[in-house]
Amino acid sequence: MKVAVFSTKSYDRTFLETANAEYKHELAFFEPRLTCETSILAKDYPVVCVFVNDQLDRQTLTCLADRGTKLIALRAAGYNNIDIIAATELGLPVVRVPAYSPYAVAEYTLGIILALNRKIYRTHYRVREGNFSLEGLMGFDLHGKTAGIVGTGKIGAIVAQILHACGCHVLAYDKYQNPDCQALGVQYVSLQDLFARTDIISLHCPLTPETYHLVNSEAIALMKTGVMLINTSRGALIDAKAAIKGLKSGKIGYLGLDVYEQEGDIFFEDLSNTIVQDDVLQRLLTFPNVLITGHQAFFTKDALTSIAQTTLANISDFESGKPCPNQIKVEFPQAVASNVK
Ligand code: NAD
Repeated sequence: MKVAVFSTKSYDRTFLETANAEYKHELAFFEPRLTCETSILAKDYPVVCVFVNDQLDRQTLTCLADRGTKLIALRAAGYNNIDIIAATELGLPVVRVPAYSPYAVAEYTLGIILALNRKIYRTHYRVREGNFSLEGLMGFDLHGKTAGIVGTGKIGAIVAQILHACGCHVLAYDKYQNPDCQALGVQYVSLQDLFARTDIISLHCPLTPETYHLVNSEAIALMKTGVMLINTSRGALIDAKAAIKGLKSGKIGYLGLDVYEQEGDIFFEDLSNTIVQDDVLQRLLTFPNVLITGHQAFFTKDALTSIAQTTLANISDFESGKPCPNQIKVEFPQAVASNVK
């Protein structure tokens, strides 16, 4: 099928082209993010392939449907950037990559925890300057601490295993209890309890209307003073302005972010020669106890190989009329269901 690939980086091209030797789709690579304005590039492409910061709101989806798009193929797991109800009403199926490498994100989460705790990111620069002093670099043992996982799906469950292996007592909050976590001895508690009792909090739930700003001022007020807060899930799970207040007061002792609510125009781009206009992000970057990375947790060879293969297989399923197990299904309220094409 003819596929318009948006938000293309060199690595997307490399991995998709390699995997496409098997699938033989006709891939056209476009660097811009998909927005209403750039959707013209997809004219006459029945498949539009997108990533996490492409904007698939109702307006963009309508433009795509009007210009002949038949399928949206998301090369990611989280689909908070797509108006699924609008897509369904427009008769546009959306397929995704629900599981590629949960290990990539879970291992990276441990990396951020260790780097922040032991201040490895600061040591690196000090030592290169000839400063071998240990002043200000003291960390704490993970062993014996209480860690809290919000969302014990594929990634959260592996983070729980890793932290358990580090000697942490692991608490969790999820709407559904994961038997693997239960078998590990993870204790499910209420969200309020998790916030109040843990030394390290790691977020692994999807971004939904329910989880938007899950960590806000009220939640931060419940936390232990000096808590470590890690978000490798989606930026808008945390109210960044509330986090800044928490950092200034000392309530948050460590903040590790791989995602940021307003990352759309910033992450994945080289902005080193421009002035970043986002004052909240810039303020966050001034704290010595904040580590921010640019949505990198998924970025392993294994994950990119799996993303490319599953994305192209999803498109082949659609082409051959087979039901695709990775199609996103939504449950509609009665009133909406009557509008669906
Ligand atoms: P998953 O669907 O396997 O697990 C998500 C878990 O969150 C499920 O157990 C679900 O029950 C739970 N959940 C849903 N709503 C909840 C709520 N209100 N409160 C608590 N828990 C809730 O997903 P996954 O593969 O583990 O991925 C988790 C998230 O990680 C994704 O949604 C995505 O946003 C993010 N992610 C980030 C990167 C990255 O590079 N930083 C890469 C992949 C995924």
